[in-house]
Amino acid sequence: MSEMQATYLKDYLPPAYRVTHTELTFDLSPSATRVKARLHVERHPDREPDDAETSLPLELAGEQVKLISIAVDGRTLEAGEFEVGDDKLIVSTVPERFLLDTEVEIDPDANTALEGLYRSNGMFCTQCEPEGFRRITFYPDRPDVMATFSTTLIGDRDSLPVLLSNGNPVEQGELPNGRHFVTWEDPHPKPSYLFALVAGSLEKVEDHHTTTSGHEVLLQIWVEAENLDKTEHAMASLKRSMEWDEETYGREYDLDRFMIVAVNDFNMGAMENKGLNIFNSAAVLTHPQTANDATFQRVESIVAHEYFHNWSGNRVTCRDWFQLSLKEGFTVFRDQTFSADANSAPVKRIEDVSFFRTAQFAEDAGPTAHPIRPDHYIEISNFYTLTIYEKGAEVVRMLRHLLGWEDFRRGSDLYFERFDGQAVTIEDFVTCMAEVSGLDLDQFMRWYSQAGTPEIDAHGEYDYATGNYHLRLSQRTPATPGQTEKLPLHIPVRLGLVGTKSGHDLTLTLNGDNGPEKLGKDGVLHLRQAEQTFVFTDVEEAPVPSLLRGFSAPVKLRYPYSREELAFLLTHDSDGFNRWDAGQRLTLLALDDLIAAHRNGVEKVMDSRLIEAYRSLLNEPGDDKAVLAEMLTLPSEAYIAEQQPVVDVDAIHAAREFVRQSLAWQLRDDFLAVYRDNLSDEPYAPTPEQIAQRRLKNVALAYLMSIENDEAVSLTQHQLEQSANMTDVRAALTLLAHSDRTDLAEPALKAFGEKWAHDPLVMDQWFTIQVTRPQADVLERVRFLMGHPLFSMKNPNKVRALIGAFAQNRINFHRLDGEGYKLLADVVIELNRLNPEIAARIITPLTRWQRFDEQRQALMKAELERIRAEKLSPNVFEMVERALADA
Ligand code: ZN
Repeated sequence: MSEMQATYLKDYLPPAYRVTHTELTFDLSPSATRVKARLHVERHPDREPDDAETSLPLELAGEQVKLISIAVDGRTLEAGEFEVGDDKLIVSTVPERFLLDTEVEIDPDANTALEGLYRSNGMFCTQCEPEGFRRITFYPDRPDVMATFSTTLIGDRDSLPVLLSNGNPVEQGELPNGRHFVTWEDPHPKPSYLFALVAGSLEKVEDHHTTTSGHEVLLQIWVEAENLDKTEHAMASLKRSMEWDEETYGREYDLDRFMIVAVNDFNMGAMENKGLNIFNSAAVLTHPQTANDATFQRVESIVAHEYFHNWSGNRVTCRDWFQLSLKEGFTVFRDQTFSADANSAPVKRIEDVSFFRTAQFAEDAGPTAHPIRPDHYIEISNFYTLTIYEKGAEVVRMLRHLLGWEDFRRGSDLYFERFDGQAVTIEDFVTCMAEVSGLDLDQFMRWYSQAGTPEIDAHGEYDYATGNYHLRLSQRTPATPGQTEKLPLHIPVRLGLVGTKSGHDLTLTLNGDNGPEKLGKDGVLHLRQAEQTFVFTDVEEAPVPSLLRGFSAPVKLRYPYSREELAFLLTHDSDGFNRWDAGQRLTLLALDDLIAAHRNGVEKVMDSRLIEAYRSLLNEPGDDKAVLAEMLTLPSEAYIAEQQPVVDVDAIHAAREFVRQSLAWQLRDDFLAVYRDNLSDEPYAPTPEQIAQRRLKNVALAYLMSIENDEAVSLTQHQLEQSANMTDVRAALTLLAHSDRTDLAEPALKAFGEKWAHDPLVMDQWFTIQVTRPQADVLERVRFLMGHPLFSMKNPNKVRALIGAFAQNRINFHRLDGEGYKLLADVVIELNRLNPEIAARIITPLTRWQRFDEQRQALMKAELERIRAEKLSPNVFEMVERALADA
């Protein structure tokens, strides 16, 4: 089958023809929209035909579009002059420069894949990245073809009063039969994946931003009328993002207006279409009563992310989809730094790293591991992954640390100047960084081509006689599918040596190639070889090393810390991130013992050192509340699982519950005090201070509820009834619903469901709360809720809220009767037909079968085989093939 063929990076060729200007006219109708396209085409200068060829054929991509007519320079082509296949149109002979006119018909209502033009709640909208534009019209749908666009939308005036596209509106008017039109012009050349249109009955909220150089920009957020009161936070976030990008990167916005539209049915979070960002409503709408703090923060970062793409992605875009991390890695790095500046920087780092080490490490350890720049793919939509996005961002962050901010900024300026309006590669970006800094980044480039998580083993030795400290670091990257040989990487290891007597960072003098090198109290080692020993001289006292501070590289670092050393770092490390990490390491050691005890049927005994460490955290108020809340949060079951060679789902759950309850029992008075001290009747605001306070309070309440005593239950009930904000309501409802007090949980869930039945985003939370319960009857509840009138397999948010959330409920998804796997496979099979992009994402937990015991492996593989027997979309086909490749 042709669509199952792989595309290879090594086969890249510039396009034979380019489009300089694209004129589109949409006559919008739910099941028969007509699209006229006039393309100004010319031969690409880099692809002159060689001697054997007289001219290169013109090849356009097109899927699920019905050709009505085609003409070159005004002359309608006859049957033999072109060829239409399932996914392309070829015109064998064309002039060097010409106008191509086509008209096609498409069916938005039949589009459940949500790629191309579709309808959501009666509204027309588009999603073109990566290859959706070819479902709108025949086009050279690849990012290295950049054209200016002029788009006319024609629609029914009553049902589609608002007609939006990229750029600026230049003309509008009435048409016969109750129709009207608007013409938009986008003066910035762009690839087709950044095209967008929206048509519907929408309302707007407006604001303004004046750029540093005095350009006035109109800001609009378009939503359905009932959501007008949920746009304030997104608008404020947008304005802060615009200011931040001007101050931090010197980048201004470049059109007269910037629009955001909220859409209910959307495959991902949001999309950076030029001047017309389209957002999943879940990633833009907030209100204190309907969204919790985490959602407020997520909205802030996604608004920033999409806005930042205007430069890192749109003005300078990707040559081909193998370069996806060029725009995504850089833009994630930019949004992470923005959020760190706007909130608590150490907490932002802790959150990002803790997510990264759980989810991206798992991806690297599984059958779909791939480099940040893959060398082949079947379906590019499958590569919008944590590796491309988050590991890509870590690699940009390493560059920033290797160069220092000033040179990094100069490299960024050079990149934007040199490549403005072009479609470029990852080398182009890294070359700018090397040029401005004079650094040799050749070895560093391996980060882009080598898959897998590097592992560093560290050993330290202090010589009392000489005052020398020897640190031996060795690195290795385990084999990944299709890539068995790994080369050493250039890894920046930030570190400090903390004096065991003073508790302070000692001065670092590195015995370098050219004599002693002063590194201050917090230095960076450049690990380049498979094994390297670093010698520090004049170390005044025996130190405990604090390694990989701030998670300075996306690696696993092992060091044989004793529990005493970890407890020491937990209180003395000057690096906030590493203090948190010391706590995580200490907890993991205790968990290891308990997991072993559970497996061997031995009585579990709680490590008293962990209790004492927590007690001192609770009693030492010095900390930032947000950091403290993170320190008190136990590693997730998923993260604990990542540390084990064979995942023991039940032992992990039991051990973690045991720790939670032991801590709660031993420290109940302290938790209660924290809870009470952090109650507040201030009106809700999504400020870092308030968010930290609520977080800390709810972490304390969760500990108290883990022992379910009457006092905790009544505090939770009281919080559920009295709170006016969703953060506290949701936290309390979750605790109740996940407890064994079904007598209280059921009526609470029922009341909540009735109260919020009109709000789809709140109902998503209602579904999630129910299917993340630890109780054993959850699977039956999932099946039951799939029949709920508000659930729909066609809405990706509902699928994620119910099915996706259930698959994260580890003890229940991994049930030994295989029913969890079967449920997920049933859903994948149904979604394969409706929405392949979502089907290929939701299948992920099944692809990780190698990590489990043999019995579960067999059950998971059987479900993958059952899926494989279906007629599959390229998306699901590729995932299943990769998952079963070593089976
Ligand atoms: Zn992005």
